[in-house]
Amino acid sequence: MYANGLIEDVLPARLAPLPDELLSSWLMRLAMAHGLKLHTFCVHLFGSRAIWSRDIDKSADERVIHNLATKTNTPLERVRETTLASYCDTLFEEYKLYGATKWVLPVGVYHRKRTLFGLQYCPQCLAEDSEPYFRRKWRLAFVCVCEKHQIILRDCCSKCEAPINFHRNELGDHRKAVADSLTHCYHCRHDLAKTFEEQNSQPFPVTQIEVDFTNKLLQGLTDGFIRVGETVTVYSHLYFAVLRQLMKIVRMRRTCIESLRQTIAANDESTIYLPSVTNKSTTDLQELRVAERRCLLGLARYLMTDYPERFLRLARQHKIWSSIWLRHLEPKQGQRQPNIAPFWFWQIVHNNLYHPRHQPSRQEIEGAIKYIRRSGGTLNKSVLARLLGVAAIRYPIIP
Ligand SMILES: [Zn+2]
Ligand SMILES: [Zn+2]
Repeated sequence: MYANGLIEDVLPARLAPLPDELLSSWLMRLAMAHGLKLHTFCVHLFGSRAIWSRDIDKSADERVIHNLATKTNTPLERVRETTLASYCDTLFEEYKLYGATKWVLPVGVYHRKRTLFGLQYCPQCLAEDSEPYFRRKWRLAFVCVCEKHQIILRDCCSKCEAPINFHRNELGDHRKAVADSLTHCYHCRHDLAKTFEEQNSQPFPVTQIEVDFTNKLLQGLTDGFIRVGETVTVYSHLYFAVLRQLMKIVRMRRTCIESLRQTIAANDESTIYLPSVTNKSTTDLQELRVAERRCLLGLARYLMTDYPERFLRLARQHKIWSSIWLRHLEPKQGQRQPNIAPFWFWQIVHNNLYHPRHQPSRQEIEGAIKYIRRSGGTLNKSVLARLLGVAAIRYPIIP
């Protein structure tokens, strides 16, 4: 038995994780139920292993999971489900315990603090919970609205705009013996559960279409497959790969993409027009704030509706061809692990939107140069281009 009365194998207060609860939220509730400081509680559970100085929801390893399962008397599989790794196979094929993972919002761990806006919440869900807790789905980049309350999720404190650090309620506060709440902003103490009235007065209220789409995606994670069109159903991770690609493409700064964005926003009241890209285009999707992700998701959703007819019509109308849609999704020479377009998407794009822009190979160019030299003609790019029947030569010519 430990000095404070905890027995070694099973904890006295055996709280089970709540539906879709995040590991970190569950740990915090367990510590509160045992009347212990979070740090003290975690030392009892895991010894000297670092828990809060990393993104534990993302990087919990088997030892942490086994320990928790034993000490809370919870089935191992249920403990695994509290981690983000449990989305492996349905959301992504590959999962890295450390580093960026597609769709998983980064929380930006700095020592024991979260500096980024990677944990979202619905204030109304928190307010209605008999025991407020944070959901696993709130860490996903495509979850921008609460499907239950039809409001946009928040990704920071509505009063001081600090990132969510619910685990810091007493952590680092020497005056406090035990955490008393999960819903108070660690920075200004504002109650996150008391902010929903102001949300309803937002200029772009959440529509039923957005809610239905969020439900469809979440259901896809449960089922492992998602319906694409009238007759096509695909594995969910292959659907999410394309959704991610579309969200990236509709964010591009090209003129054809800008006119596509305008057309969609003009035709669909559920899509918010995204006039210009506020972040650098190299910023990955999961690094964007919730408002921008919501706009991109809306544009991608519009393209995926009535697939492939609407998608093809808009692509042709705005002259957006396969080279753009399949950008970075076609294997390149020398690439070790190429991102390959899922076949269900590649086939439609390749069969309908392929516009060859022939570029002669190096050998063809060299052959043409030899021919011009032999025949005593002037050697320059426009002569070469005419000879090869193309608009321009991209390669430098060595005279
Ligand atoms: Zn809610
Ligand atoms: Zn605050």
